[in-house]
Amino acid sequence: KAKDKGPISYEVFQGSMAEQSTQKIHLIAELNAAIEKNEFRVYFQPVVRLSDSKVIGAEALVRWQSGQRGLVAPGVFIPLAEESGLILPIGHWVLRESCRQIAERLKNGWASDFDVHVNVSVRQLIQSDFYQKLEAILQEFSLSPHNLTLEITESILIEDSNVIATLISRIRLLGVSIAIDDFGTGYSSMSYLHQFAFDCLKIDQSFVSRFLDNHKSEAIVSAIIRLAGGFDVPLVAEGVETLEQAQRLHELGCQRAQGYYFGRPAPLEEWPEGWCGSGQSGPLS
Ligand code: C2E
Ligand code: MG
Ligand code: MG
Ligand code: MG
Repeated sequence: KAKDKGPISYEVFQGSMAEQSTQKIHLIAELNAAIEKNEFRVYFQPVVRLSDSKVIGAEALVRWQSGQRGLVAPGVFIPLAEESGLILPIGHWVLRESCRQIAERLKNGWASDFDVHVNVSVRQLIQSDFYQKLEAILQEFSLSPHNLTLEITESILIEDSNVIATLISRIRLLGVSIAIDDFGTGYSSMSYLHQFAFDCLKIDQSFVSRFLDNHKSEAIVSAIIRLAGGFDVPLVAEGVETLEQAQRLHELGCQRAQGYYFGRPAPLEEWPEGWCGSGQSGPLS
């Protein structure tokens, strides 16, 4: 994972506490300027159906194309954006830009059930005008809510669960789907399943990367697959890097997958028509 992070991942936040906070302040200022300079990009990673390896959707993943630092991965700046509040303008931009690009493809013949997943921070979600902004974006690009899924990370659902449960229900009534991201990594995974309505579970890549040679991880993966089945929602396995992992997940009953084996995140213009040369049909077919 470290290899796709920009150079700042090891350069920043070293040294004394005082130095670290100075570095943080500089990076926050840079992020602020990056919004002005329009330096953010959305990359899309395909999500495939395991039964036939067909691309059925994509996850939008933000990148920062920095003049000085090159292409910076979100793991480096999203935590700081969350801390500083800059996640609000950045997150809004990602949501709007993802919807814009996908709406354009849908008009140009992509399968009408193509599903774009956008990561949403809880800080964004609890903004009083989030719902209006979401509705406005769908309207602006004439995008059907059925083409959009918002991914929410489980560990941050803790905050104010009643408020969040209400917000999630409203969003679902609009027709937009909710996915619980990184499932299994939070503190009280099972209690969320009671509190929040959701349409999709995403199993964290930390389980997927180990499950072929680790009995405990395999037990967790197959339990989560059955759990999703019990809730009658699709499960997406994240971080699938090999054919063996894809085959085993399919055998265990997992329906969908995402990972380098099928395709790395890339700008839509760079999406090949078939992924990884393994004979999958792309969204254009
Ligand atoms: P995530 O939502 O769990 O996204 C999946 C991450 O796994 C992505 O990292 C993706 O590039 C990476 N990945 C996909 N397939 C593989 C694989 O086969 N192997 C490995 N090792 N990694 C794989 P990325 O793009 O660096 O994003 C990291 C995290 O940053 C995301 O995790 C998400 O939590 C956050 N993020 C990204 N974009 C946004 C955004 O627009 N808004 C917010 N709030 N968070 C975002
Ligand atoms: Mg995600
Ligand atoms: Mg995830
Ligand atoms: Mg993750």
